[in-house]
Amino acid sequence: MKLSWQRQTLHPKHKFATSQGVSEKRVTIVLRLEHDGIEGMGEIIPSELYGQTLDSAEETLNAAREFLGDDPFVIEPIVQRLIDRFDGQRATIDGIDAALHDWCGKKLEIPVWRLLGLSAPKKQTTFTIGIADTDEIREKVDEALAAGFDALKIKVGAPNDHETLTYIRSVFKGPLFLDANQAWKPEEAPRRIVELARFQPTVIEQPLDRADWQHMVDLRRFKVAPIIADESCERPADVNRLNGFVDGINIKLNKCGGICEARRMITLARGFGMTVMLGCFVSSSLAIAPALTIASLVDHADLDGALLLADDPFAGITRTGSTLQLSDRPGLGVWPVSL
Ligand SMILES: [Mg+2]
Repeated sequence: MKLSWQRQTLHPKHKFATSQGVSEKRVTIVLRLEHDGIEGMGEIIPSELYGQTLDSAEETLNAAREFLGDDPFVIEPIVQRLIDRFDGQRATIDGIDAALHDWCGKKLEIPVWRLLGLSAPKKQTTFTIGIADTDEIREKVDEALAAGFDALKIKVGAPNDHETLTYIRSVFKGPLFLDANQAWKPEEAPRRIVELARFQPTVIEQPLDRADWQHMVDLRRFKVAPIIADESCERPADVNRLNGFVDGINIKLNKCGGICEARRMITLARGFGMTVMLGCFVSSSLAIAPALTIASLVDHADLDGALLLADDPFAGITRTGSTLQLSDRPGLGVWPVSL
């Protein structure tokens, strides 16, 4: 198996802010895995929160070559070997996992969801509105509703949260997902959560710092909305640790290391009776395709990472209202249009 890659720069339509900062562009890595005349592709989105950079991803790719072997069909053992060796670089493992799945689908001339025994990928996604001043939020919300989105995710943890949410609830009655991205301290969080009740959120994501996960159990008792761990939940072992402390988890393939690990997390979370969300980072459609492939297994999807872009270099995902649908081409179902 031969690996090659290139960096790609993506530009969000709007500046994108959460309680953790602002981003005006994102650079990701497009990975190609070639074997037997067929090319599988995957995208790597390193996250500084988890100690990953573009450089560490490329170092990992160089070092990963000797762990791949010569049979792309043995995906699970390959991924396990990579996790054993590069546990902290799961964004890179995710890219390799995606490229292996894409390769196998293309080799067998079937979509990956068929390879996995899943139903055709068609799923409602939330559309995310980042933190901004109230005028900008109004503009973004109006734009999202005019574009037909019928489930919204709002980043909270800013001083104008109430103004923002009051406006949104005046124009939108549908599912409203709130994400605090670790904004609050355990002492203030109960008050913040109770104040959010009147906006009738569908879920509240990561109200506390990722290290304060044990305090999330205190927030469940207000029953404002299911409390979902995102930054606190990276890999399968975290699901076990968080059981009882949260109502659900938000899985992202670049956090956990790809489809194989995500499926383990879904199985564990289901066993514990947890709500399961599938999220993403800002990325091209190449990274959304593997998540959409397994989205039929989860309760809620937040897979708008490529919809937030001005210049998505990949095609193959279509949107009707808030519903995303993956093409039925072999492999992951997406292809480059402007690389
Ligand atoms: Mg989140």
